[in-house]
Amino acid sequence: MRKDAWVSILFCFCFVGGIAAAQKPSTGSENTLYIRCDTLIDGKSEAPRKDVVIGITGDKIDLVGAAAFTSNMRVINLPGHTCLPGLIDTHTHVLLQGDITAADYDVQLLKQSREYRTILATVNARRALEYGFTTIRDVETEGAGYADVDLKKAINNGVIPGPRMQVATRALDVTGAYPLLGYAPDVPVPHGVQVVDGPEEGRKAVREQIMYGADWIKVYSDRSYRVREDGVLDDIPTFTLDELRAIVDEAHRERHKVASHAMALNGVHNSVEAGVDTIEHGNYIADADLKTMAARGTYYVPTIFVGEYVAQGRAAEGAPVWVQMLKIHEDTFRRAMRAGVKIAFGTDAGGFDWKVNPAKEFSSMVKFGMSPGQAIRSATVTASELLGMQDKIGTIEVGKWADIVAVPGDPLADVGVLEKVDFVMKGGVVYRKP
Ligand SMILES: [Zn+2]
Repeated sequence: MRKDAWVSILFCFCFVGGIAAAQKPSTGSENTLYIRCDTLIDGKSEAPRKDVVIGITGDKIDLVGAAAFTSNMRVINLPGHTCLPGLIDTHTHVLLQGDITAADYDVQLLKQSREYRTILATVNARRALEYGFTTIRDVETEGAGYADVDLKKAINNGVIPGPRMQVATRALDVTGAYPLLGYAPDVPVPHGVQVVDGPEEGRKAVREQIMYGADWIKVYSDRSYRVREDGVLDDIPTFTLDELRAIVDEAHRERHKVASHAMALNGVHNSVEAGVDTIEHGNYIADADLKTMAARGTYYVPTIFVGEYVAQGRAAEGAPVWVQMLKIHEDTFRRAMRAGVKIAFGTDAGGFDWKVNPAKEFSSMVKFGMSPGQAIRSATVTASELLGMQDKIGTIEVGKWADIVAVPGDPLADVGVLEKVDFVMKGGVVYRKP
């Protein structure tokens, strides 16, 4: 009885909506687009596969294997290319144009309107897609309010080209901890974050941000870094543990996840204790916290390249700690791998200029001890799991969204070739072709 009812409901939907559910083209149909790859890294199997054809109908993959071609079939040949799942960057700032120095940041907040910054962000979104990032998690707008929600909407509505997005809107931090800082007390200046103090303000901010479209809640958990004599990277934690717990509890209660900027000892420890879902940067993480992260499945998003990129500029500004941090970061990364922590690819693009290809992060990860295959998985399968989208993206297999990129060469032999993505498909639409 129940089953019959469902059949008739489904039938009605198809009939009324004119949806030809029964007419899904079978393989070989002229509605199917085929991509012919010399090599395929599908994100599922351990070994790459040779001479593979991917069939795409609509926005989904419906064939991975071999196909007999006829003259009327639409085929994209990619000789000499390796095809991979669309890359995923889990730490970006599309509303930022690089902040190597503190002045770069202040200028963007003081002299650029949100509208102008949003126009620039549309360009960054297109760049991200053209670099091969078909999905990004953008972890705060740095003073541009909820502009990321609109950007995501414009992309989803097909108004502008860009990656799939999960957005964090305005990050949370406490009074006196985040730029703009250093202005006279009687000069009101904008903040790069939503300032909250106390557990109740934290809960309210979470509710407000979710109401306005936040997919993630982002917190800044520490600041003011220094290297202790024993080599540990020390910090001043921003939130108290009570405040952080309230924020995480409220977000989780509303089925949202929390990303924590935590670079050093106390910020990471408090974040892990409070139960955040991802640790961003994590230049120093104590062994005990790595153990907890591995046990709970907390993700580590190390963002190595940006650290290398900003170190010299910040050292010149009188903050040599950024150079010292590089060695500490490498040691943490290697310990995290040994501890079995899930490491997801994230770049902090926007923290450096979007004209620099964020895929440089792959080489940084390999330099710090990952194999090229592991680095690729961090930006595909692992990143899709971090986003909770593993049933839709992250691998090339039948039924998944057709997010596919290709590079001229073998990224397992030279991971740097991932900076040369020259074929990009998102949801079955080609955005870039060699
Ligand atoms: Zn960031």
